[in-house]
Parts: sequence; structure tokens; C-alpha cells
Amino acid sequence: MKPKIFVIGSSNTDMVVKSEKLPAAGETILGGTFLMNAGGKGANQAVAAAKLGADVTFVSKVGDDIFGKQAIQGFQKEGINTDFVFTDVENPSGVALILVDAKGENSIAVASGANGNLQISEVAKAIEQISTNDTVLLQLEIPIPTVEFAIKKCYESEAKVILNPAPAQKLDETVFQYLDIITPNETEAELLTGIKVTDLKTAEQAALKFHEKGIKNVIITLGSKGAYLHNSTTNRLIAAPVVQAVDTTAAGDVFNGALAVALSEGNDLEQAIDFACKAAAISVTRMGAQASAPLRSEVV
Ligand code: ADP
Repeated sequence: MKPKIFVIGSSNTDMVVKSEKLPAAGETILGGTFLMNAGGKGANQAVAAAKLGADVTFVSKVGDDIFGKQAIQGFQKEGINTDFVFTDVENPSGVALILVDAKGENSIAVASGANGNLQISEVAKAIEQISTNDTVLLQLEIPIPTVEFAIKKCYESEAKVILNPAPAQKLDETVFQYLDIITPNETEAELLTGIKVTDLKTAEQAALKFHEKGIKNVIITLGSKGAYLHNSTTNRLIAAPVVQAVDTTAAGDVFNGALAVALSEGNDLEQAIDFACKAAAISVTRMGAQASAPLRSEVV
């Protein structure tokens, strides 16, 4: 049977203009090039998991507009169940406006739109479909009360709950006890624990803080170094494959999607992290977010 994964999170349309330099306030710059990509951490993670062959249900909200319709079509093309991608008649689809200069520096403004209106009652309907041993993956680009509700409810459904606490922000720490796994990067780990993660020693200190809050398994992603796992039995770095990185956008999203896939197939945590590191390493060798996520056959 295919593993069942529920991703509860955001969907955005990324509109990217590349130009020689970033415009200053009030300035107009001509001569850029434009491209549009499907994005949003939730959608990126759902697509990454689906491309790796998982049975994915995406729980999200889009506007009643062309971007929302395109996003849903894109998910369906990847074989994702969109029964719980709700349409918001009041708010537009989430959009990220991204300006990139010749050196790769960027400036990003996000209008969350419908993502900011994903209601507890809507997520509750999706959670009714979740059963024991399903895997649930959440991030922080939808309303925090909705995330907190979902974590507790999914725990009660005996699903395995993974929180990727990105983008970094605080949440009610009483929900941490319901998490199986938290997957911060260094910045997110620092915001949530107060410990600046610069090496394995400080990663361990941050992990201990997360354990104090009630989280069983801590995985701190460390970019090109790989990922650090800390739980009651293990304390080790799982190294990332050495690759020539060209675009690290969504590396964390591919890592999380792949981690959920490997765990839902019954692999242990260390095997799952190794698989996630391999998948994420492939994604950084290619441009884009969802487009860079590898197919199952590529992860060996
Ligand atoms: P985020 O993208 O959320 O900031 P990281 O930068 O920690 O997160 O990247 C997530 C994972 O992606 C890492 O744990 C690693 O497995 C993989 N990764 C990121 N950058 C590279 C790289 N340059 N080479 C190989 N793997 C990478």
C-alpha cells in the first residue's frame, strides 16, 4: 500500500523579476526578465512528497481566481488529492513578489491572501480522514491557531506529526508535546530555543531545549552539512551528499517532503534522514522550487 501523507499548509504563486539591480524605494528599473512559479512551503512539500511516489492529500486554501485554479491543476497533475484545497471567495490566492538582482540578492514581499484564512473548521474536516499511522506535515505559513489545532487533533488521531517551523515564528509551546518530530533550520532553531546554532555542540544544546519542551525527535537541518538528529537513543550528524549547488530554494521543503515519505514507508529516522538528504541534495543542483524536487527513480 502507498504511504498516506497529509500536508497542511500554504500555496503561493511566486512571481519573479530578475534585473541588474534591486530598485530602491521610488525607483523603476527596466530590462528585467519575468517568470512565474508555483510555490508556498505547504505546496512545495506536498509536491516533493508526491514526486517521490507518496499518496498525498494537500490541505490548503486558494483564492477564487486564476492563480488558485492553476495551483489546483498543478497539484492534480502530480496526483495529489485536492479534496481539501478550499476556495476562498473573500481573499485572493497567496502571492510572493520576488525581485532578484544579478548577484542573486533578493527582496521578497508575500501577500498571504487565502492562506491567512485557512480555518480550523476546514482543517478539522480533513483531519477526519486521517487515521493511525498516517503522516502529517505542517509548516507556519497558515494561521498559527489553525496549526496548533491541527497538531493536537492529528496527535489524537494517532498520526505521526512533523512540524517544519518555517518561516521562523513563535507558537504556543504547549503543542510541542504532541509532535513526533520538529525540523527547524539553524535560524528557526535559534528563534525557538534562544540558542545560536553554529556547530554540532550548539545544535545539541538547541535539541536539548526542544526535548525540554516535550518534543521527542529533533532534526536540525544544517544546509550543505546535512541534518543533525537528536533523540533519546541517537545524537548524530547525517551528512549531506557533496554536490554543486545552483539554487537552494526549497531545499528544506524537499527535505521535509522526502522525510515524510521515507518515514511513512516504515524506515527508521536515520534511514529517513539519509533519504531526505539525498533528495534535497538533488534539488539544490537544479533551478526552482517544485520543479527541482526529484522523482523517486533519481534518489538512489
Ligand atoms: P532551509 O532550506 O529550510 O533553510 P537548509 O538550508 O538547512 O534548510 O537545507 C535543508 C536540507 O537540504 C539540508 O539538511 C541538506 O540535507 C540539504 N541541502 C541544503 N543545501 C545543500 C547543499 N548545498 N548541498 C547538499 N545538500 C544541501
